[in-house]
Amino acid sequence: MKQLVLQYLKLFLLLGLSGVTTEHVPKYDVLASLGTLPLDGHFSFHDLPAAARDFGNLSSFPPVAVLHPGSVADIARTVRHVFLMGEHSTLTVAARGHGHSLYGQSQAAGGIVIRMESLQSVKMQVHPGASPYVDASGGELWINVLKKTLKYGLAPKSWTDYLHLTVGGTLSNAGVSGQTFRHGPQISNVNELEIVTGRGDIITCSPEQNSDLFHAALGGLGQFGIITRARIALEPAPQMVRWIRVLYLDFVSFTEDQEMLISAEKTFDYIEGFVSINRTGILNNWRSSFNPQDPERASQFETDRKVLFCLEMTKNFNPEEADIMEQVSQ
Ligand SMILES: Cc1cc2nc3c(=O)[nH]c(=O)nc-3n(C[C@H](O)[C@H](O)[C@H](O)COP(=O)(O)OP(=O)(O)OC[C@H]3O[C@@H](n4cnc5c(N)ncnc54)[C@H](O)[C@@H]3O)c2cc1C
Repeated sequence: MKQLVLQYLKLFLLLGLSGVTTEHVPKYDVLASLGTLPLDGHFSFHDLPAAARDFGNLSSFPPVAVLHPGSVADIARTVRHVFLMGEHSTLTVAARGHGHSLYGQSQAAGGIVIRMESLQSVKMQVHPGASPYVDASGGELWINVLKKTLKYGLAPKSWTDYLHLTVGGTLSNAGVSGQTFRHGPQISNVNELEIVTGRGDIITCSPEQNSDLFHAALGGLGQFGIITRARIALEPAPQMVRWIRVLYLDFVSFTEDQEMLISAEKTFDYIEGFVSINRTGILNNWRSSFNPQDPERASQFETDRKVLFCLEMTKNFNPEEADIMEQVSQ
């Protein structure tokens, strides 16, 4: 009991000192009630500014509390608690993955941010076999999923370019990259989800079970529940990859080639096209692709065009196929 009173006092002090004055701020007793929730993790109040930032750096909506969940049950208890406050409560809840959204999507003005990366209780488990898959926490970074699955010679089928994004964060959007033309976005490569709904229920869903929730949550911008676990389809990881970049000055040829390559049956395993502003010369822009020391190549790439187009492609192969790779990729 004494501990509870102290917890209340701490909350009042912190909220008082933080000087939060927006109209969204709920009553102190509402916030103090959060302190009564039995949790495996904890609420924190010192990292509110960090929870009010994202990659876009355009929006900043400070929450009143950040939940560091120690378990899925923590998330369920918190959401249920807020739900039971009723429709007149202005307390909002937002899941935060790696905070790489651009316009404050993972922020909660005067509400509760759930820091999904703290959810360590859902252990990653790889299931090899005829139809391999991995079970991963919604707060897991894709780079960690890759590292773990590679130990089994496996990898997810569809990716984002940048891998320091969370499973729940990209599955709430789409997850698009150069494999999308073949496998669909990441949300098309999920077998099952565990979700904490807006009522605080923990529900398992898939295309067969609670399918409405499954399809709503995938690409649902976090509005249909919080993804606490995802079952992601895997395939054998390529042993070797041939990486090719082709530069275009002309938009029409660039898009025609890209359309031809993604519609043909046996082409590349990854195809992505992008537009680039040529500020400092092609070789400076793409040092990793073209060797600036090579004078023959350097002359080929001289252009005063300010906008360039690039197709990036990869072809997967095994070491024993190395000899025929030249023909295949030509
Ligand atoms: C440098 C960079 C590179 C990128 N590259 C790509 C790319 O190649 N392909 C691509 O498709 N996208 C890309 N993105 C966009 C990226 O997919 C989105 O910004 C994504 O939201 C970031 O994931 P996050 O884990 O940081 O999520 P956050 O930004 O933290 O959250 C995004 C949204 O998802 C919700 N959310 C987060 N976790 C959960 C959860 N567990 N359950 C339910 N909802 C949740 C949040 O509330 C919020 O609405 C890139 C972004 C950056 C900054």
